[in-house]
Amino acid sequence: MIFRPSPLRIFLSLFLCLASARAADRLSNPLADPPNWKALAKFQKTITRDEFEQALRGVYCTHGISEELIRVDSDVACILTDRDAQTWFTLRFAKDERARASVPRKWRPASALPQAQKDGVLSGVKIALDPGHIGGEWAKIEERWFKSGEAPPVEEGEMTLRVANMLAVKLRTLGARVSFVRDKLEPVTPFRPEDFRETARGILKAGGTENPREEFDGPHDPLREQTVRWQSEILFYRASEIRQRARLVNSKLRPDIVLCLHFNAEAWGDERNPELIDRNHLHLLVNGSYLPPELEFDDVRFEMLQRLLNRTHEEELKLADVTAGAMAKRTGLPPYQYTTDVVTRVGTSGYVYARNLVATRLYQSPVIYFEPYVMNSHEVFARIQAGDYEGTRLINGVERPSIYREYVDSVVDGLIEYYKSARK
Ligand SMILES: [Zn+2]
Repeated sequence: MIFRPSPLRIFLSLFLCLASARAADRLSNPLADPPNWKALAKFQKTITRDEFEQALRGVYCTHGISEELIRVDSDVACILTDRDAQTWFTLRFAKDERARASVPRKWRPASALPQAQKDGVLSGVKIALDPGHIGGEWAKIEERWFKSGEAPPVEEGEMTLRVANMLAVKLRTLGARVSFVRDKLEPVTPFRPEDFRETARGILKAGGTENPREEFDGPHDPLREQTVRWQSEILFYRASEIRQRARLVNSKLRPDIVLCLHFNAEAWGDERNPELIDRNHLHLLVNGSYLPPELEFDDVRFEMLQRLLNRTHEEELKLADVTAGAMAKRTGLPPYQYTTDVVTRVGTSGYVYARNLVATRLYQSPVIYFEPYVMNSHEVFARIQAGDYEGTRLINGVERPSIYREYVDSVVDGLIEYYKSARK
């Protein structure tokens, strides 16, 4: 399930960047790292103009990109690095594909892996599993908790960890080298909400709230977003937690692919009297589809270019498309239809969208972000209550396998199909 920012949050974060960034950098978040533009120098002459244009217009900037930020000329692309000083980074294109220098990157596309060994079709593939959210005692704070009647509560962060544990066993059997971005019901970041109270006050002040309330009155307080507690919790479980996971992935785990495991949901209203609905669906996300206001932020523009020049999208899209097809086949779920235009449908399966999420942007290797099953649909809710089991059980009149096994098996189907055909 994905956090959907309210207009107030966007408004506040825009103010925030103006208030807290260093004079030269316009950052999207007070916890964002300033861009290291020099790091793009190693990509000189690694991409042709056509390839750059295709990735820029077809994947990353599908809503357009201002020439005041990135200008593509015949031999170079000029990238704005400092608006006030009007300094630009010049990226030189390779003349043609034969003259192209190799892309310096830490991950390996399937086509560059040695042939599969007899220990399995995934032999040697480094896969990092990222179970979405935190769960446990943090599930309510991160708004990933609901409870219907006398049934045990539904916690996405606990369910994603369960999927990761089961998936790891299967992937290792197929030869993969599996690591965990999170392996318990605890945050990866060493910080806690109270560490961000001062930053939260700064955000609220920049948004015009001079003397904010410290606490809010439960999840239905309409003004809770303007309290220090709410802002500091968001900084903790979103900004700090995701950025810490990215540091772990990029500097320590260094996988060939990252699988971000989630369960989807639709608005459920009261967490203790949630609305259960009939809709159920599946979609997968890859990184892309940056919105023009997001591209104004220096860190976001830099991180986008780092992904583009690493060619993560090439691997991501192929892998996501094949895996989505396999998951659709096994689960029988229809594709989710977005009702906003923040995403761009990509690939050919009908299930894959590009979207600029913090996690998919910060991880410097191909990332597939899974959003199967609507947790507050009647059917999925019943399957969650049934837990994990062997074989099938009658759920609302239909024989179904355990939802966890179905999730795991459908992802495994996809990875086998992709790596079988791609690593030759
Ligand atoms: Zn989620």
